Amino acid sequence: MYLCTTQILEEMQNISTYNFKGKRAIVRVDFNVPLNAEFQVTDKTRIRAAIPTLKKVLESGGSLIIMSHLGRPKKAEDKFSLRHIIPDVEKQLGAPVLFAPDCMGKEAANMAAALKPGEVLLLENLRFYAEEEGKPRGLAPEASDEEKKAAKAAVKESQKKFTATLASYADCYINDAFGTAHRAHASTTLIAAHFPNDKMFGFLIEGEIKAIDKVLRSPEHPMTAILGGAKVSSKITIIENLLDKVDNMIIGGGMSFTFVKACGGKIGDSLCEDDQMPLALNILKKAEEKGVKIYISEDVIAADAFDNDAKTTVCPVDRIPDGWKGMDAGPETLETWKKVIMDSKTILWNGPAGVFEMPNFANGTLRLVEFVAEATRNGSFSLVGGGDSVAAVTQMGYAKKVSYVSTGGGAMLEYLEGKELPGIQAIRQ
Ligand code: AMP
Repeated sequence: MYLCTTQILEEMQNISTYNFKGKRAIVRVDFNVPLNAEFQVTDKTRIRAAIPTLKKVLESGGSLIIMSHLGRPKKAEDKFSLRHIIPDVEKQLGAPVLFAPDCMGKEAANMAAALKPGEVLLLENLRFYAEEEGKPRGLAPEASDEEKKAAKAAVKESQKKFTATLASYADCYINDAFGTAHRAHASTTLIAAHFPNDKMFGFLIEGEIKAIDKVLRSPEHPMTAILGGAKVSSKITIIENLLDKVDNMIIGGGMSFTFVKACGGKIGDSLCEDDQMPLALNILKKAEEKGVKIYISEDVIAADAFDNDAKTTVCPVDRIPDGWKGMDAGPETLETWKKVIMDSKTILWNGPAGVFEMPNFANGTLRLVEFVAEATRNGSFSLVGGGDSVAAVTQMGYAKKVSYVSTGGGAMLEYLEGKELPGIQAIRQ
C-alpha cells in the first residue's frame, strides 16, 4: 500500500525544524559511488546529493556520523573501503572528515563520543558486516536447510547488537539514502526504532517522496508514463499500478516487442518474453477498459546483429524481417511520442527507448530527453528515474531541464509499484 504522502511528511519530525544544536546525528547516506582502478570516484552525483542534509546538521550546531555501504563486499576488503571517498566528501562538504576504520568497536564509539559540534565522522563500509543486510555469509553450498535456517537466525540475532551499537553513537537518526530505502537493512530500517522521537528523512528522501507523490497522488492531467527498458516482467506491476493514474502510456524499448508479438506482429529476432504475452494482452485490455491510450512503437530501427556497427533498416514494428532485431525507436514513432509528451501536463519516464549503451541506437532515448525537457519548459511536471533514463538526461546536460531526477533506481520502481519502502515506513511509524 502506498501510504507516505507529503501530508504525512509534514506531520512528522522534520529535518528543517529539528533542533540539532549540540546533538550527534547519525545519517545513512548512499555513498555507493563508482570507483576507477585508482580508487577515484568517477561519478560524484550521490555524494553531491547528500550534501544539503549533511550541511544542515552542521550549520544547525550538530555533529555528523555518516554511514553508508559501498559495493557488495563479502568481508572487509580495501577495494570497498569508504576511505577512498574521503577527499571528495571533504571537498563537497567543505569540512574535514574523520574516519573510523571499522564501523563497530571501541575506536568508532570513542570517535563518535568525542565529536564536537561541526565535526564529521565517516564510518567504514557497513557491509563489511553481514549484520548490515542480515544475511548469513560463508555458508557451504552443501549446507542443509536446517543449517541455513540456523545461520539466518544467528545473523538476525547479532543484527540487533550491530544496530544498537550504531544507534549508541548518536542522539538522532536521519535516513537520506533513497537508493537503499527499498532494503530492510540495519542502517536503513532497524536503527530507526532506537530513535522513536528523533528520526527523520533527509532532504533527498523528502524530495523524492514529494516528487513521486506529485505524480502518483495529485498529477495534473493529461498524465503520460513513458516506460522503456528490456523486460515487461520487471515492470508489470508498475504498469498495472499506473493504469489507474495515467491518460497515456508510451511503451518503448525492448519490452515493446512482447506486446507487438502478442498482438500477432512479426518481430524477427527482437527481444521478447513469450511467457509474458498473455499479461501483455491483459494490460492492453485493461487499458482500453480504463480509457488509457497506449502508444507502442510504430516503426523501429532494426539491426542484423546486436552490435553498434550492425547493418540497420527502418521498418514497421510488426514487420521486422527474420534475423533482424528492433534496437531503437523509428522516426514516425518519435513524432507520435513527441506530440503525446508535448500535450502532457505530468510526465513520468523510466527506461530507455532502445539499446542506449550503443551510440548508434541511443537516438530514441536522447530525443525523449529533449521532448521531456521541452514539455517541462512549457510548464509540465516531469519525473525521470531509472539508470539509463537518468544517464541519458545527465549525458545531455539536461538534469536541470526536467522537474526531478530520481536518484534511486530500484527504490523508485518499487515506490511506483505502490509498495511502501521499508526505509520510509521505519521513519513514518
Ligand atoms: P531496464 O533495466 O529494464 O530499464 O532495461 C534497460 C536495458 O534495456 C538497457 O540495457 C537497454 O540496452 C535495454 N534495451 C532497450 N531497448 C532494447 C531493445 N530494443 N532490445 C534489447 N535491449 C533493449
